[in-house]
Amino acid sequence: MTPMPQGPPFAVRARLLSPLAGGTWLDELDGLLEVDAGGRITRAGAWPSGAEAPASVLDLRPHVLMPGLVDLHAHLPQIPNAGLGSGLDLMTWLDRYIFPLERDYDRSVAERQAPLAFRAFAAAGTTTVVAYAALWEDSTDAAFAAAESHGIRAVIGKVMMDRLSYDTDIDPGQILETSLRQSDALASRWHGADDGRLSYAFTPRFAVSCSAEMLRESAALAARHGAYWQTHLSEDHGEIGEVSRLFPDARDYLDVYDRAGALGARTILAHAIHLSPREIERLVESDARVAHCPASNLFLSSGMMPLGAYRAAGMTVGLGSDVAAGPELSIFSVMRAGAVTQRVLELMGRGHPDGAIRPLDWIRLGTLDGARALGLDGTIGSLEPGLEADLIAIDPRLTSPLPSDDPPEPADDLASRLVFRPHPNMVRAAWVRGRLLAGPPGRAMIG
Ligand SMILES: [Zn+2]
Repeated sequence: MTPMPQGPPFAVRARLLSPLAGGTWLDELDGLLEVDAGGRITRAGAWPSGAEAPASVLDLRPHVLMPGLVDLHAHLPQIPNAGLGSGLDLMTWLDRYIFPLERDYDRSVAERQAPLAFRAFAAAGTTTVVAYAALWEDSTDAAFAAAESHGIRAVIGKVMMDRLSYDTDIDPGQILETSLRQSDALASRWHGADDGRLSYAFTPRFAVSCSAEMLRESAALAARHGAYWQTHLSEDHGEIGEVSRLFPDARDYLDVYDRAGALGARTILAHAIHLSPREIERLVESDARVAHCPASNLFLSSGMMPLGAYRAAGMTVGLGSDVAAGPELSIFSVMRAGAVTQRVLELMGRGHPDGAIRPLDWIRLGTLDGARALGLDGTIGSLEPGLEADLIAIDPRLTSPLPSDDPPEPADDLASRLVFRPHPNMVRAAWVRGRLLAGPPGRAMIG
C-alpha cells in the first residue's frame, strides 16, 4: 500500500485535480502539493524540473489528490438504517424507520456510533459534514466530542421539534423553552471550536414539526451566535400540503421560514425540490443556501430538482447525502444520482437550455460549491495556496471496468469515471488541515 503522510508539514507528488475560484480547473498529471506545519497549502502546481524539486517528498502517483468532499446534509442517528424502506412516502418512512432510531440515540449510542460514522464519512472522501443529531442535548454533545477527536470538519445541531415530537416524556408546555435553552448551551460550547473546525447549526427539523415560535426563536439564536440555521424545505408533495394547512397565512413553504427571519447566508435548506418561481427568486435574493440530495430524492420518490434552472437563477447549491434517506454516505454516489436525475429531466423535455451538467461540474458541486454554501470557500474546497489542506487521495485505477494501470488522462474522462463508477475503496486517504483522518485505508491501522 502507498504510504500516506500522517500530518503536516509534507510534500506529495501526485496527479492534482481541483476546481478553482472563477470557474477554472487545476489539472496536473504530474503535480506537487506542499502543506506547511500549520496545515495550509503552500504550493499546488506542476512538478518542478531540476533542482527546484523538494528534497523530501512522498510519491503518490498514480493517485489523484483532490479537495475533500463537502456533505451539506446528513443525519447521524439514522445511519444504521441506510438503504431500508425505499418506496415508502416520507411521513411513513419517518415513523417506521427513522424516529425509533432517533429516539434511541442517547449518549451511550452516540459515543459508540458517532466515531464510526465519522470514519465512514472520511472513508467515502467526505472531509466536511453538516449533520443533524437527535432531539437530545447529551448525545449531540457526544457527537461533537467524537468529531473533535476524529479530526473531521463538522457542523452539527440538536434537532428541534415542538410538534409531532418523538419525545413523549416532556411536558408539552416545556418543549419550546427546553429546546431553545439546550441548543443555546450547545452552540456556546461548540460553535467555533478548534479554531473554527467545528460549528453549530440550530436545527428545527422542518415546518411540519415546528411552531412559528420555534422557527423564529431558533433563527434569532443562530444570528446571535453567528451560527448556521438548517432545516428541510419542499421535499415531498404531502409535506408541502401539510405545511400550507399548518401555516395558512404563509404565501408558500419558503415564506414560513422567511417570516421567521431565518433566511440568510448562514441558512442551509435541504432538498428544495418543488419551488415556485417566487420561491426561487426569494431564496436567491435572501442568499440562503441549498443542499441538493438527489440520491435521497430518488430513494423516497420525492422528486427531481431542476438544478440547471436554479443555477441559472444564481442559487448557491451544494450536495448532501441525506443519509439515511440517501442510501449511501458517498458524495460520489450522490453525484451519480444527480447526473441520472438531470438525464431523466432531459428525457422528459425538462432539461435546462444552458445544457447538460458535466461530470466536472458535479465534482465542483461536491467540493468548492459545498464550501461556498458554508461561506468557507476562502478556507477549503480547492487546492490553492493559502487554503487549509482538506484533501483526499483517490486511486483512479479502481474505477476501471477491467484491471488497469492506465487511468484516464483527460480531466473530463477522469471526472466521468469518478461520478459514474465510484468504487467503495477508491478513497485511499483523507486529511483535514493536513492531518490524516481515520477511516480510509491510508490510516486503517491507526486510531
Ligand atoms: Zn434530511
